[in-house]
This record gives sequence, structure tokens and C-alpha cells, in this order.
Amino acid sequence: PSPAATRLDLDGNPIAPLTICMIGAGGFIGSHLCEKLMAETHHTVLAVDVYCDKIRHLVDPAPPHLAGRISFHRLNIKNDSRLEGLIKMADLTINLAAICTPADYNTRPLDTIYSNFIDALPVVKYCSENSKRLIHFSTCEVYGKTIGSFLPKDHPLRKEPEFYVLKEDESPCIFGPIVKQRWSYACAKQLIERLVFAEGAENGLDFTIVRPFNWIGPRMDFIPGVDGPSEGVPRVLACFSNNLLRREPLKLVDGGQSQRTFVYIKDAIEAVVLMIENPARANGHIFNVGNPNNEVTVRELAQMMTEVYANVSGEAPLDEPMIDVSSSQFYGEGYDDSDKRIPDMTIINKQLGWNPKTPLKDLLETTLTYQHKTYKEAVKRQMSQASAS
Ligand code: NAD
Ligand code: UDP
Repeated sequence: PSPAATRLDLDGNPIAPLTICMIGAGGFIGSHLCEKLMAETHHTVLAVDVYCDKIRHLVDPAPPHLAGRISFHRLNIKNDSRLEGLIKMADLTINLAAICTPADYNTRPLDTIYSNFIDALPVVKYCSENSKRLIHFSTCEVYGKTIGSFLPKDHPLRKEPEFYVLKEDESPCIFGPIVKQRWSYACAKQLIERLVFAEGAENGLDFTIVRPFNWIGPRMDFIPGVDGPSEGVPRVLACFSNNLLRREPLKLVDGGQSQRTFVYIKDAIEAVVLMIENPARANGHIFNVGNPNNEVTVRELAQMMTEVYANVSGEAPLDEPMIDVSSSQFYGEGYDDSDKRIPDMTIINKQLGWNPKTPLKDLLETTLTYQHKTYKEAVKRQMSQASAS
């Protein structure tokens, strides 16, 4: 028997093979989750997305040893009647589909709201009507700003954990005014969370909500001009990787003072697998998934990435490795920011016994080694073509 055949859940019971409808399976998180499920479990995945570049190695075609365990369904959940059939065919649906890059929130707020709220509605409805379990991906951004951020800069209470630690069942969701369209994403995610929660309360939907806190690693987003639009603005890991690959200074938005906690994608994926395989412990819960030990300011992240990339690539850093830019220059009007994001880990620890493992330095080494190998030559080619034309 394969190791998968003897898998046990956290309570010592054998885990039955599941069919999982994974929507957004072609994205960053989806690609890692598909890989993990194929390598270490006996579950079957119906992978739904509009594109499959990041899971091509698994689905186009599926390698012989995975035949029958993973299939790709190219469809847009906005308008495709096949969606309900796929959800009905599965035991569990995982919805990862979303517009989730901050550069879009204030510049494409309608698309952002439709993608994160309206387009997710049928998924929730089909799960509820067909009594299927749902794992819905939300975001740490539903917490918005910390309570402490409203106190004066040097106020002593800012140092007290109750003014900044983010707790699933206790912390409020604090967003800026409507003109700050940055919050369109957080607000849409909050409302879909409330809807999923209400379906659980009123109609008995079995649900789990995941709030990722800056999961990062290989295959995140795109490098502008190489595997994404030249003018596109991905999330910070890909922005800084792109700057390093092109030997440009890293751009610090509004001084780079915001704080984030980064967790390695492979640690975070282990938490998702625990949720998949332990429904009795995961249903009805909202889980923070992050690494509270990996906190840095964006400026510190830029410094670390500059140092790590110099080691990985053998190229000395620039004399001026960073420059400041205003958020209105970088993102346009209506940008705003979360000041600090420390996840409380009590609930996920108690329910699933999960803890993140990888320190920031180590995960940056692995990730920037991947970025350098994957993109350096392509970036060089693209830069020489651009300068020739
Ligand atoms: P991603 O953009 O890499 O993946 C999302 C995938 O969904 C993409 O492949 C996209 O093509 C697909 N998709 C979007 N709209 C679709 C539609 N209408 N029909 C079919 N497919 C569609 O993003 P990710 O980082 O993998 O994030 C996955 C989820 O996790 C999102 O809901 C996001 O809001 C949430 N999240 C992620 C992070 C993080 O740290 N990576 C943080 C907070 C929240
Ligand atoms: N940021 C930056 N320079 C960049 C890209 C992002 O200073 O080139 C900042 C951004 O303003 C935010 C943080 O990095 O404070 C994290 O941005 P990300 O896009 O990863 O998303 P967020 O964590 O805000 O959801």
C-alpha cells in the first residue's frame, strides 16, 4: 500500500479519499495545494481556473502516476453553468478564486468587489443547497487597521498586544473611508465571510474560513514583462524580486513603515491539508494562518531581500538599493494600508495543532534562489530587446 493509504487524521481515524473541487487551483496557493495533495495524499482534485500555467506540470497532461487523480477544468466561475455540476461531483469545495493584488483594489474597485463577493456567491449557494463542505479563502485584510494605529505614534498602549494582535473571534474589522478604495477588497471579503457564516448558522452549511497572512514563496504572482503585463504591479515579493532581477532600487511605498508577518507557502499549505482532512475540527471555524515570528517592516524586508539576493546571485547590491515613493505615485489615488498584522495563533493551535516553522531568512533564500533561476535569463533577454527597440 502507498503511504497515503495509511493516512490517519488527528484523532487517529483513517482518512477516506475525497474528491475536491478546487476553484482558483491555477493560482499561487492553488498550485502548491495541488502539488501537496498529489504528492502526499490519495485525494482527487477537480482543478478549476481560467488558466493553468502554474499547474501545467500536473495537468497538461497529468503524469501517468497521477492519471485519474487530477483534471483541469478551464472555466470562469462568473458565467459557467458547469460550476454546479463540479461542486455536486465533489465532497469538498475550496474557493481560492479572487482578484487579490492591492494595485487593483483602488484602480479596479468594481472588478475587485465583483470578484471577491458577487462571483463567490454561487459557490456558497451550490455548497449550501447540495450539503457540500466549503473551505473559503478570505484574507487577514478583513481586520483592516489595528486599534493601536489610532493612538498617537509614541503612545505606550501601542505596545500592548490587545491593541494590535488580530484574533478571529474578537478583533473588530476596521476600514478607512469609502474614498479610500483600497478597502473595497477587505469589505467584499468581509461580506462574503459573513454570508458563509450565516449559511452555517441558518442553513447548516459546513464551512471553514481561512485568513492568510502574507503567504509567500515560489510561483507567487508574476514578473512584469516576463510572465505578466509590463505595467502590472504584483504583490510585494514579486515587486521586489523584479527590482532585484533588473538591478533597480526597491521602491518603498510611503517610507516602507508598514509591518507584515510573512509565512512560507509550504508551512501554510500544511495547515490547509489539516483542515481538509480534519473536518470535525475545522468546520465552523475561521482560522488565521500566518507566522507571528516573522514580523518585519517593509523597509526591513527590502533590506533582507537585497542581502539574500546578493548571496544567491553573486551580484553586489546597488549603492542605493532602495528609494522612497509615495503611495499615490505607486498605486494611484485611493490607496491606504494596513499598519501591522500579527496573527493570533490560539485557535489554529488548539483545533489543528499547527505551527509555522520556517524563519523569514530561510524562506527568502529558497524563494530568491527560485526567482533567480527561473527569471534571470528571461529578464536579461527582455531588457536587451527593450533597449534595442
Ligand atoms: P492568485 O491570484 O495567485 O490565485 C487566484 C486564482 O483564481 C488565479 O489563478 C485566478 O486565475 C483564479 N480566478 C480568479 N477569478 C476567477 C474566476 N472568475 N474563475 C476562475 N478562476 C478565477 O492568488 P493566491 O495568492 O493564490 O490567493 C488565493 C486566495 O487566497 C484568494 O482568495 C486571496 O484573496 C486569498 N489570500 C491570499 C493571500 C496570500 O498571502 N497569498 C493573502 C490573503 C488572502
Ligand atoms: N510595497 C512596497 N513596495 C512595492 C510593493 C509593495 O513598499 O514595490 C508595500 C505595500 O505598500 C504594503 C506592503 O508592501 O505596505 C505589502 O504589500 P503587498 O502587495 O504584498 O500586499 P498587502 O500585504 O498590503 O496585502
